[in-house]
Amino acid sequence: MSLHGDYDDQNIFAKIIRGEAPCVKLFEDDVAIAFMDIFPQAKGHCLVVPKEPARNLLELSEDAAAEAMKRVKALAAAVEKALQPDGVTVVQFNGAPAGQTVFHIHIHVIPQWEGQALASHGGGKQADMDELNALADKIKAAL
Ligand code: AMP
Repeated sequence: MSLHGDYDDQNIFAKIIRGEAPCVKLFEDDVAIAFMDIFPQAKGHCLVVPKEPARNLLELSEDAAAEAMKRVKALAAAVEKALQPDGVTVVQFNGAPAGQTVFHIHIHVIPQWEGQALASHGGGKQADMDELNALADKIKAAL
């Protein structure tokens, strides 16, 4: 079943949490880390990743889900302040048929501007690292 199974601690977000893989970090505390999506669907697309080793929302504890949502709200507010989008999409995919590609729970925060279509989920091209760092600096300054 795609929604339940063994947690693979070699997934890329587990490696980022352990500091074994790089990320453009926005914040980190005991329960979550947030960083820029490197295949962004829009400029400023970022992710909140709870540290609990859970594949998806169905497997995440209630406490971790609640704590994650506090951080999603804070990050959405910082994205709004920093980038002044016309809208912000908060989205989260559970299981491959739903579009999940990294099997460690994470929540997307995606700013949107009137008249600008999002790149497709999973179809974005890799971001320019200088631009990603500049966007991250703006978001961090607004946190
Ligand atoms: P999902 O389809 O919800 O599992 O989304 C996974 C997201 O992680 C996609 O938006 C990818 O662009 C993003 N992603 C994959 N690898 C990395 C990485 N190393 N650093 C940052 N974002 C990543």
